[in-house]
Amino acid sequence: GDHQKAPPTPSPLRNSKFFQSNMRILITGGAGFIGSHLVDKLMENEKNEVIVADNYFTGSKDNLKKWIGHPRFELIRHDVTEPLLIEVDRIYHLACPASPIFYKHNPVKTIKTNVIGTLNMLGLAKRVGARILLTSTSEVYGDPLVHPQTEDYWGNVNPIGVRSCYDEGKRVAETLMFDYHRQHGIEIRIARIFNTYGPRMNIDDGRVVSNFIAQALRGESLTVQAPGTQTRSFCFVSDMVNGLIRLMEGENTGPINIGNPGEFTMMELAETVKELIDPDVKLKVVENTPDDPRQRKPDISKAKELLGWEPKVSLREGLPLMEEDFRQRLGVAKKN
Ligand code: NAD
Ligand code: UDP
Ligand code: UDP
Repeated sequence: GDHQKAPPTPSPLRNSKFFQSNMRILITGGAGFIGSHLVDKLMENEKNEVIVADNYFTGSKDNLKKWIGHPRFELIRHDVTEPLLIEVDRIYHLACPASPIFYKHNPVKTIKTNVIGTLNMLGLAKRVGARILLTSTSEVYGDPLVHPQTEDYWGNVNPIGVRSCYDEGKRVAETLMFDYHRQHGIEIRIARIFNTYGPRMNIDDGRVVSNFIAQALRGESLTVQAPGTQTRSFCFVSDMVNGLIRLMEGENTGPINIGNPGEFTMMELAETVKELIDPDVKLKVVENTPDDPRQRKPDISKAKELLGWEPKVSLREGLPLMEEDFRQRLGVAKKN
């Protein structure tokens, strides 16, 4: 037989004259809420090839349906707690359930995802020389004793509570990122994400904005968890995605807070949703869960200065965009 190998088929992307700026980008957790919006944004650039690795624990193929079959897109069913062997230039590492009801559902799996999952993605980054961005969280500040939270604050975190699988998990993930950076010279980026909302959030995922909007549309009372004076700052997902891309392509490792500094009590949020969606809806105060942080608001000076980034969409502008998406998914038409 003829043992001569056929010449390798050149990848249309690798072969292009724009080779230098082509990027192969892995997004772990890309079938989730923030990840799928990140996919949309990165796919807009024709030089990007996007690979999603997701185990569909809280994400869904539905969030990516417009890209399935696209020549620059690939979707892999993969659990990040297992090794992954592929060739990429960038890794956006998002895989991890973000909503308390999901991350508390199987806390051991959550911590494995944070620790072993991040270790695997760092091993991958090391082998192929990719730059890796971790989506950490404002929860690393715990129930903060400093307000607003700056990146140099070390946090006030309970190591043995029901939230610890998530917040301590993310703290270890940050540690791993810096140890791979110092020990192996890996290029790292860490975003500390504050509460983010927008279309495609899981309708029943238990987070406050999705709960209130779904409740208002179903004509149910809005469940304000006691005391209702606790605060959060809500960032619209398009702003979040722009911040993550700026961080990835910028020069700074971080950690950098990415969030919207507009701060609201949960009672104010409920009143706003009521006013925007249905003035007849009622509010009811219900029992809270343990270790609920009393206040949270990002100091985004670093993001402004180092990334030239700040959020553009206010809560009053963002809520109606999410309402529209929830109406479609719940099949609830707008009243005249
Ligand atoms: P999400 O639950 O919608 O998305 C997470 C995705 O990760 C899902 O698609 C899920 O299936 C996938 N996943 C979970 N475990 C996995 C595993 N072991 N292997 C492979 N895939 C796995 O959540 P989100 O809101 O899009 O959050 C994305 C990231 O941002 C998470 O890392 C989260 O911790 C972080 N974050 C989010 C917020 C927020 O307000 N949404 C706040 C702070 C940090
Ligand atoms: N890893 C991976 N993909 C790769 C390279 C490594 O998933 O392309 C995993 C590997 O299985 C290991 C982890 O990343 O569990 C850490 O890899 P590293 O090379 O840093 O450590 P070692 O393999 O020496 O323990
Ligand atoms: N919350 C609420 N009603 C709900 C769900 C949550 O009042 O139906 C409150 C919760 O007590 C917390 C805040 O909203 O103070 C944000 O909770 P969420 O689970 O959305 O995110 P967290 O910031 O706690 O991760």
